[in-house]
Amino acid sequence: MSSQTPTKFDVVVVGAGPAGASAAYLLAKAGYKVLIVERGRGAGTKELFGGKIYAEPLRTVWPDLDKEAPIHRWVTRERISFVKGERVTTVEFKLGRKVAFTTYLTEMAKWMTNKAVESGAILVDEVRVDEIIVENGRVKGIRSGPDTIEADVVVDAEGVNRILLEKLGLAEKIKPDQVALGVKEVINIGKKAMNERLLLDEGEGLAWFMVGDVTAGIPGGGFMYTMKDTIALGLVLHIGKAYEAAKTGELKHTVPMLLEKLRTHPFFSKIWGDADVLEYGAHMTIEGGLRYMPKKLYMPGLVVVGDAAGLLLNTGYTIRGVDYAVYSGKLAAETIIEALESDGPTEENLRKYEERVRESFMFRELVKHRGIEKVMEDPMFFTKLPAMLNILLAKLYEQDYEEPTVLEALLDSVKESDVSLSKFMLKLFSVVSKL
Ligand SMILES: Cc1cc2nc3c(=O)[nH]c(=O)nc-3n(C[C@H](O)[C@H](O)[C@H](O)COP(=O)(O)OP(=O)(O)OC[C@H]3O[C@@H](n4cnc5c(N)ncnc54)[C@H](O)[C@@H]3O)c2cc1C
Repeated sequence: MSSQTPTKFDVVVVGAGPAGASAAYLLAKAGYKVLIVERGRGAGTKELFGGKIYAEPLRTVWPDLDKEAPIHRWVTRERISFVKGERVTTVEFKLGRKVAFTTYLTEMAKWMTNKAVESGAILVDEVRVDEIIVENGRVKGIRSGPDTIEADVVVDAEGVNRILLEKLGLAEKIKPDQVALGVKEVINIGKKAMNERLLLDEGEGLAWFMVGDVTAGIPGGGFMYTMKDTIALGLVLHIGKAYEAAKTGELKHTVPMLLEKLRTHPFFSKIWGDADVLEYGAHMTIEGGLRYMPKKLYMPGLVVVGDAAGLLLNTGYTIRGVDYAVYSGKLAAETIIEALESDGPTEENLRKYEERVRESFMFRELVKHRGIEKVMEDPMFFTKLPAMLNILLAKLYEQDYEEPTVLEALLDSVKESDVSLSKFMLKLFSVVSKL
């Protein structure tokens, strides 16, 4: 930290991701002295995500989002493909209204943090917070190396890898079955080729999920998002299961090899051809939000927001982390403002933040979809079902002479993909009730 940085703030925000930036913006706008501490070089540089953000929760913080934010395309088409070898079954939905947009999180986090800085917050980058200081059961500030900064409130927005919370004893050590590894490439396809090959009009975007062989038997899936003139292509893989499969020798590919296989898959690669890969990156993400939630989201002088608070919904067909992060930052800022305007950031006053989270759409959604991660880890859904669908369609469409009846094809495909119909029906019911 530079010698000019003041050593006392109303609020110190750890992390310039979506959660930290939204809290910092609202607090600075309300006139509080806010410091954002970010370990990356500038906001956004440590960020990596898939590509789609739900807009409405963000508009509650930045009403001019649509005009000002670095939005690449509005998602007008959602696609899911079930993959078995070279066979691919695809379902596509054309949306009737604009709900979510594509972007790079690097750009978005920078934009959000700039909004906070324009409102008076100070950003200190390339500084890692090593400790949240607690004295007599109350958070007093932060320490980075030899430097300490005092604050009335610390907002922990450190993201999924919540080392500081662990040190505080508010969160347990991350378990491999609670997290997934995301890897992503950015492919330089160019706007014209992308629009022509994916039948997109100017400004229209596609979000595409792939399940089946793409993860080589590891729970997870592939994703593709259209940016302005590039494509974000990636995989999300269950870390615990990948580790087990690597140990037993079942997983024969490294993660970069799996992504390479997806990029060169005969069906998908038609879209980008031999366009260059501009970037490659990896980041951890939460598998099941509720299981990842810390014991408490507050203590005197501290609130926990975003991924660090386990506020992420992953239903398998969509992932909502950024809008949850922003919305939790907003709830945190509102609670902190009320606390600072009354008798301070006491346990009782900051408890209201957790109450607000629990009353919000985020918590309701997480409760409703509780256990969905277990479903997504079930081979029935991420390998057998995609295989069955493709075998069924192959039986119906790949015959030279004799066509089976649909029932014959269905029964054969069930047998060949090792799916028990009764188990399938039971499991399908449990999935549909959680989706
Ligand atoms: C592969 C993948 C795909 C995803 N796809 C989507 C998607 O399509 N849509 C969606 O909405 N969500 C998606 N997510 C989830 C989304 O990225 C997160 O939910 C969101 O970024 C959480 O925001 P946050 O502010 O809580 O944490 P983060 O965005 O992780 O920000 C935390 C910040 O804190 C900083 N930091 C951490 N520790 C310290 C420290 N000790 N000192 C200083 N700074 C620190 C980090 O450098 C970082 O800048 C995806 C995630 C992954 C990994």
